[in-house]
Amino acid sequence: MKNIRYIFLVAAITLLKINPSIYAQDYVVKTVVIDAGHGGKDPGTHGKYTNEKDIALKVALKVGQYIEEHIEGVKVIYTRKTDVFVELMDRAKIANDNNADLFISIHCNALGKSTVKGTETYVMAVKNTDRNFEVAKRENSVILLEDNYEENYQGLDLEKPESYILFSLTQSAYQASSILFADKVEEQLGKRAGRKSLGVKQSSLYVLWNTAMPSALIEIGYLTNPGEEKELNDEKIQDYIASAIFRAFRDYKTEVESLN
Ligand SMILES: [Zn+2]
Repeated sequence: MKNIRYIFLVAAITLLKINPSIYAQDYVVKTVVIDAGHGGKDPGTHGKYTNEKDIALKVALKVGQYIEEHIEGVKVIYTRKTDVFVELMDRAKIANDNNADLFISIHCNALGKSTVKGTETYVMAVKNTDRNFEVAKRENSVILLEDNYEENYQGLDLEKPESYILFSLTQSAYQASSILFADKVEEQLGKRAGRKSLGVKQSSLYVLWNTAMPSALIEIGYLTNPGEEKELNDEKIQDYIASAIFRAFRDYKTEVESLN
């Protein structure tokens, strides 16, 4: 009897070894890349007294800290932890090289009109509306500061929406997941952080283009709105914004893993 049991056990183990799909592991969100927009010689946009790169970094570090403190088994990788310049292409490369499961890019918005305020979360798009194209143009323009711009971004004309359409192919496979996460971000930014949510939008943002995973770019507020500029400098409000993004990540992870 013992022998028969032993034979069955050996057979079962052998079967598992030759057919890994039998015990294929469920999908788990285990690596997240947090990307603080801009940095170093690229200050990003600005308000009266604030540079985008500084607020983005503060919030990005807090988001990572919350995830590390509250969710076990998730590896947090930052594209930058200090005030340094990182090329857009390299930001996506960091995420791809680390097989990240989610890419979160954190930015601040700007507009000529100082009355506009609120948060917007972007996923990659095929088509650009004029308004969203302005965001893409501004966020992508950092490319011009990169040394090897012409080599790396062949044929890209920042002024022409049609040259951005090529961008969307890699990301299209992940768009549903990206939107799932982006929706949660906007919901939490309203609920948890008391921000005015302007919703989930689509635009051709270069930093998202090359990422081979779900990704979103969060504009956490308008530095060109004096009230919002003041709020974005408030450490407590930065904490709430980071906490909202953390909660969106936590809920996203729970939801996609429940589909296993
Ligand atoms: Zn930006």
